[in-house]
Amino acid sequence: MIRHMIAIAALGLAAPVLAADEKPMAPVTIIKVGNLIADPAKGASGPATITVSGGKIIDIGQGDVVPSAPEDHVTIVDMSEKTVMPGLIDLHVHLTGDPGGDFWKQATEPTEWGVVVGAKNALLTAKAGFTTVREAGSSQYSAFSLRKGTAQGVIPGPRIIAAGPALAIVGGHGDTTGFKEDINDALASGYSCTGAVECAAKVRKASRAGSDIIKITATGGVLSQQGRGLEAHFTDAEMTSIADTAHSLGLKVMAHAHGARGIEAAARAGIDTIDHGTFADEAALRAMKANGSALVPTLMAFQGVSEGLGKGIYTPVVENKIRETLGSVGKAVTMAKKMGVPVAFGTDAGVFGHGRNAEEFALMVRHGLTPREAVASATTLAAEVLGMEGQIGRIANGYSADLIAFDGNPLEDVTVLENIDWVMVRGRVID
Ligand SMILES: [Zn+2]
Repeated sequence: MIRHMIAIAALGLAAPVLAADEKPMAPVTIIKVGNLIADPAKGASGPATITVSGGKIIDIGQGDVVPSAPEDHVTIVDMSEKTVMPGLIDLHVHLTGDPGGDFWKQATEPTEWGVVVGAKNALLTAKAGFTTVREAGSSQYSAFSLRKGTAQGVIPGPRIIAAGPALAIVGGHGDTTGFKEDINDALASGYSCTGAVECAAKVRKASRAGSDIIKITATGGVLSQQGRGLEAHFTDAEMTSIADTAHSLGLKVMAHAHGARGIEAAARAGIDTIDHGTFADEAALRAMKANGSALVPTLMAFQGVSEGLGKGIYTPVVENKIRETLGSVGKAVTMAKKMGVPVAFGTDAGVFGHGRNAEEFALMVRHGLTPREAVASATTLAAEVLGMEGQIGRIANGYSADLIAFDGNPLEDVTVLENIDWVMVRGRVID
C-alpha cells in the first residue's frame, strides 16, 4: 500500500483518497531476540524474532528472520545479545506513595500530589521491568487517573489494575487514625464499614467509582497508627459479604492480612489473594488451599521497613508492630510451597523505594521457591491471579506486547532481573 502511494506521488499525482476498505499500514516493530523465554515453565529457546503491531504480539519466529531491507513502517529493535521475557507483574504496589514521611502529612498534602508522585513512580516501576501492577490502595481517584494516563500513553508506566481506597473497619488499618476524632473523620476515605450490609454497599460504591479489584484490610497493619494488634478486624460475616458482593460484580478481592486467624477467616470468606500473610500457620494455609486463595508475600515490604528501624522514621506504635513481624518474615512462603498454596509475586513498593521491586525474587528464592517458580510467580501465575492469563504473562500471538530485555538467565539466577535494559509496555518502548 505505502509503496503504491509513493509510486503515485512520484508520478506527480495528488495523494489518493483511501477507499473505505483500505487502511494505511500500521507501524510494526520487529525485535531481534538473543534468547527467548516465552513462558518460564518451558525454559529458554534461543534466538527468535518477535513482531509487534497495534500494541500486540502478532508473530514469533524462531531464529533471526528479520528482513534485510525493512519497509518504512517497520522499526527494528536489536536485542540479539539479550534475553527477552514477558514483562513482569507486581500484584502489590502503592504508586502514589514513597517510603518514610510523617503520618500527619496526610492532613497537609493534597490528594492530587499523589498523582504527581505516582507518575514518577510509574516510570521507575516500568523501567525496572514491571509492565503490569496491581495498585493496592490509594485515595479515591489518584490510581484511576494514573491508570488512564499509562493506558493512553500520556505518561510512561505499567498497565495499572487499580483498587482505589481499601475497605477497612472503623479505626483499623486503612482507616485514618492517629488524629483527634474530628480530624480522623474529616480525612476518612469514606470506605470504612460496619456490618455485612454496609460493607456490601461499600463494595458496590468502589465498583461504581471504577475499582478493578476490591482491596480490604482484613487484619491490623504495621504502618498505620492503629494499635489494636495484627489479627482479624472484620467479622466473618463482613468478609463473606465483601467477597460475595465483589464476585457478583465480576471483581476479585485482595486482602491485606497478617494474623493467622484473620488469614484463615479471609480465605474461608472466599477472598482471592492474601497479601503479606505474615503469620500464616497450617490451618490458615489449609483454608487458603481449600478456597484457591494465592499468597502474595511482599517480602520486600519487611526488608524496607527493617532498613528504616530505629532512625526516627516510624512512631513508637509502628516500631513495635514492625519488631513483632520481623521474626516471622518468609515462613509463610516456605510453608505455602510445601502445602501447594500458590505463591504469587507482590512487593508493597511504596513501603520501600519504587524501582527495587525485582529484589523480591531473591527473597522468594531464599525462602524456598526455585528460580523458575519465582519467575513464574511474576508472569504466568500473576496473570492467572488477575484473571488475565489470555492477555499478559507470556510471549504469545495475540498477547499484549509487554516485553523486557536483559543479560543472563533468570531461570538460573533471579538477580539478573534487577538490571533490566529495555522495556516495552503495550507495544510502546519505555525510555
Ligand atoms: Zn500495601
